[in-house]
Amino acid sequence: MIEAREQQVLDLIDANRQEVVDFLRELLAFKTITPDEQPIEHDEFIRHQAFVKQMLTKLGFQEIDVWEADAAKLGAVPGSGVNKNRDLRNMPILVGRLPGAGGGRSLILNGHYDVVPLGLLEAWTRDPFAGEIADGKIYGRGTNDMKGGIAAMLKALDFIRRAGFVLDGDILAQIVPDEEASCMGTLAACQRGYTADAAIIPEPTNMRVGTAVRGSMGGKLTVFGRAGHAEQPQPHWTQGGAVNAITKAMRVLEGMADATEEWRTQPDKQHPLVPPDHIIPTVIRGGDWSVTIPEEVEIEFDCMFVPGTTDKRAEIEEKLAAVAANDSWLRENPPELDLGGPEEWIYPAEVKENEPIVQTALQALADVGIQPALMGFGSLTDCVHLINHSQIPTINLGADIESAHSADEFVTVEQLIDLTKTIALSIMRWSGVRESAGA
Ligand SMILES: [Zn+2]
Repeated sequence: MIEAREQQVLDLIDANRQEVVDFLRELLAFKTITPDEQPIEHDEFIRHQAFVKQMLTKLGFQEIDVWEADAAKLGAVPGSGVNKNRDLRNMPILVGRLPGAGGGRSLILNGHYDVVPLGLLEAWTRDPFAGEIADGKIYGRGTNDMKGGIAAMLKALDFIRRAGFVLDGDILAQIVPDEEASCMGTLAACQRGYTADAAIIPEPTNMRVGTAVRGSMGGKLTVFGRAGHAEQPQPHWTQGGAVNAITKAMRVLEGMADATEEWRTQPDKQHPLVPPDHIIPTVIRGGDWSVTIPEEVEIEFDCMFVPGTTDKRAEIEEKLAAVAANDSWLRENPPELDLGGPEEWIYPAEVKENEPIVQTALQALADVGIQPALMGFGSLTDCVHLINHSQIPTINLGADIESAHSADEFVTVEQLIDLTKTIALSIMRWSGVRESAGA
């Protein structure tokens, strides 16, 4: 049920829909594309954060902390995916605190402001940074993933304040870079000690409450052979003959396919919200001369796994050992497995349905007129750090995901407004609210 004070805020949002759209268009104009080459040479990230800081100051935020993380100095916690070589200069992280009146629960609102590269420019029929509006959609890189979410969460706070209310609990706004590459922006904020009783990340989730993400582990396998002339007869390898590393690599590739197939139905790889585990070859290199039997093949792979998985590393090693055990050459010349350091994988994450923040968001969705439901991500979001590193119950909640990372990315005005309302209700109910002294 919607209370009178909540209705006032919702009415204010309806009366000022264009403001949310305009604010999103202002955020879009900064070309904060996740960099490939580093360090980045422009100041779009810095100017984006200066703009957000200005907005937060207007909203009554205090202690606005803006800093650049140094990946080499981040704690390499197992599962945190820290990449010490990534250069995070000129991509500031911003955390601001909106102090509550007291007695309420605190809440983190987290959004990444980096956006994926544009891809093929010819595929775009709209200017990616202008926020063109047509047929009820706002177009542009990041409208969906996830500057729309940032606009919704900050404008929700604005409307609550302008309706004459102050929140009881503290709000922490975290506007972070590099989610699309490394997730180290949020990790840096977690390691700096910022915490709260719960967190909301308005990543696109089809207007559902996202409570689970899979973990991921990338790696490289080197399969060895023995070189020889491809057009000459070869004795058996035990007699010194050549061994084709490509042929041996096929055994390993079959092993991966078999493992993925097995995990598809294996009971401990099933989760109600995310797909089962997989291990998939993604890059392959081998051989260097068309008449030489290749002596080495490298296979890079991607492995994803459901929440609750305790030691994927050991499981991959076991599968590989089983493949090698079935082949006399591989048994004596086992493939080399490189899974990186203990920090170079990313933990899965999940929050239980009965967590108060999950229930708060489900109810808020229902009150905005949207069928409340849970969802999970096959890939990940910054929630992995808030949940695993900082032990904060964290949900993802945002617009339809279909256009994320695509040409002509968009968010509908309708969903942007519904999201603003859903977040506003969630904030008020989570934190508690009272009339402001001046109202
Ligand atoms: Zn995103």
